[in-house]
Amino acid sequence: MKIGFIGLGRMGFSLASSLLKQQQKVLAFDLNSEAMAKLKEKGAFASADITAVAKEADIVFTMLPGPKEVLAVLTGADGVFNNLKQGSICLDLSTVDTQTVDQLSEVATKRGIIFGDAPVGRLAAHADRGESLFMLGIAPEYVKTVEPILLKMGTTVTYCGPAGCGTRTKLINNLMVLSYCQINSEALVLAKSLGLEVDLIYNVLTGTTASNGQLKEKWPNKVLKGDLSPGFDLTLGHKDLSLVCKAAELNNIKLPIGNIAKDIFEKAIAAGYSGKDTSSLTDYWSSINNISNIRF
Ligand code: NAD
Repeated sequence: MKIGFIGLGRMGFSLASSLLKQQQKVLAFDLNSEAMAKLKEKGAFASADITAVAKEADIVFTMLPGPKEVLAVLTGADGVFNNLKQGSICLDLSTVDTQTVDQLSEVATKRGIIFGDAPVGRLAAHADRGESLFMLGIAPEYVKTVEPILLKMGTTVTYCGPAGCGTRTKLINNLMVLSYCQINSEALVLAKSLGLEVDLIYNVLTGTTASNGQLKEKWPNKVLKGDLSPGFDLTLGHKDLSLVCKAAELNNIKLPIGNIAKDIFEKAIAAGYSGKDTSSLTDYWSSINNISNIRF
């Protein structure tokens, strides 16, 4: 089976690399020629453009920044839906909003394409190790086709329901993940201002019920040791918080913490934190509170 893979960024590159490690045929495309060249070295076929991927692949995966890019790549005139063989499956792994995923599903159905969504849970470091979790949304009869391929890129596939249910599940997941970035930052900055050592407060917070996955798994490997390179770019974190706040608004649900976290991410971006990991929110929060050196 020829697997098309479009979007070779921080996540897509690792996921496609896992497919290659498992001897899969991968037809890859990204606007970034450097990423293309690196994946080619690992054994991928570098396709000329999106149309070429769609025409030659038996199944297509996309892993793109957000709604705008996914809509363009899948529904554009030279996009995947117009060029993929009828009856083939297209699975979007990106994080998008509920309206976008529903629109994609509708357009794909009209063109005879089977569309599903499988946004990715866990950290970029898990994707590097082939340990991602996928929240799968697709018509039930196609689960047995896509699940074995997803399991070549990760360890866990959770079936969430028909197309669109993966995205809905992911938005709830990221409300928790990204709101914790701000809670972690408040706790660490306040601790430092009270004269506590970061090592001590980290050990206490990860040893009690205050612990959360982000603080436990990401913070010690990223911001607390001074590595701000994106695992998960703060700009993508802001995009996801905006998606979940919009979903709440559309359903007349109040979401104060989510909206506050979104506003703080926005301010961090304005202060130059775009391109840095979401955990760098702690550095932003330190700077606006005139606290320095939140490091082990
Ligand atoms: P990224 O910005 O590193 O990668 C996106 C890639 O898409 C880039 O290489 C870019 O060149 C490519 N691209 C953009 N437009 C394109 C187009 N028109 N045609 C071809 N390629 C195009 O982002 P990422 O961190 O890999 O995240 C991808 C998605 O996964 C996002 O929706 C994000 O929210 C989600 N996600 C990220 C993480 C994480 O920890 N990084 C975890 C889970 C989910």
